[in-house]
Amino acid sequence: MTEQIISSVVKLGMIKIEDNLGRRFEKLRISLLNDCNFSCVYCVSEDFGNISVMSIQKPSADQPLTPEEFTRLIEAVHRLTGLKSIRLTGGEPLLYGNLFPLIDHIQKIGIKDIRLTTNAYYLKEKASRLFEAGVKSVNISVDAIDQEIFNQISRHPNTSRVFRGIEAAVKAGMDVKLNAVIIRGKNDSQIIPLLDYANGLGVKIRFLELMKMGHLYHSENELFFSEKEMLAVIQEKYTIEPIQREHAETSNYWSASNGGTFGIIANESTPFCHDCNRLRLDSNGIFYGCLSNAHGEKLSKYKDDDDLLTEKLRGLLRLKQPVKFHGSELSMRNIGG
Ligand code: SAM
Repeated sequence: MTEQIISSVVKLGMIKIEDNLGRRFEKLRISLLNDCNFSCVYCVSEDFGNISVMSIQKPSADQPLTPEEFTRLIEAVHRLTGLKSIRLTGGEPLLYGNLFPLIDHIQKIGIKDIRLTTNAYYLKEKASRLFEAGVKSVNISVDAIDQEIFNQISRHPNTSRVFRGIEAAVKAGMDVKLNAVIIRGKNDSQIIPLLDYANGLGVKIRFLELMKMGHLYHSENELFFSEKEMLAVIQEKYTIEPIQREHAETSNYWSASNGGTFGIIANESTPFCHDCNRLRLDSNGIFYGCLSNAHGEKLSKYKDDDDLLTEKLRGLLRLKQPVKFHGSELSMRNIGG
């Protein structure tokens, strides 16, 4: 099967699906399921009982796709785009019951670079097995070192398990990156403690500007804490040096005088749409070309027709913003962070 894919990719020259900014789909993010054991304040609104964040999605009582269904879609897209990597996310991907069979299927398609984004609550038990299965890189969401603040943001009483998960991932040999969404008045006090924690472990940390997604789409931005403000906080303690941004990176990086490296994902202040190479797939089999566009396409019925599938993928590519993220009614919980 791998040879078949390679030969059709070579036949197509892999340049068919490209927009006028030279953007292609090279990375696929899959939200394996909508469900999560955390209800982080940026993902889930307070009136979650009314499923407002799910307003334009099917409710999560829906079954996510099976590993076989995901694999058929991935295989079809890979045939036409030559995907370089896949990130498994959610919802909480470690709650997806068939995670290991899915990883195995993706490997067999010939995509070896498989990454994970997780809250790490269940990572301690799974880190070594994931590493052996081929998941060498993991992004872990950790919004505070202070337990009370972390519990409040995640609306979960026991976030201390996250740190055991992080340590297990490092021990297993994974390339670990930490992600912290900075929210004014909630965890801006945690920037330095998080930076110091990451440096102590020898891993990178990225701070994220709050994005207007899901229930935050129409909100006023009083919770927004900018890249400039984050840098000012860090510079009160450390001197910093910018690092050259790599192609299609979501984050800008700096080295800090504590010896560590940190990044800032600044959708608002330093947009990075111009070389975005990401395609997204949700747990219901809907593909999205842009995080800032809630229009998705079910591609399952085109998966055996290369011409139609190419057209559909081109259509999704056209949805990408030229410059800047403008927000979306979709929650990251559905579309995958
Ligand atoms: N459950 C996994 C986790 O916690 O990493 C994966 C899914 S979660 C949606 C992935 C990440 O998306 C969050 O931790 C956060 O970094 C990011 N995210 C979600 N909503 C966001 C928002 N409104 N603004 C910025 N980042 C957001």
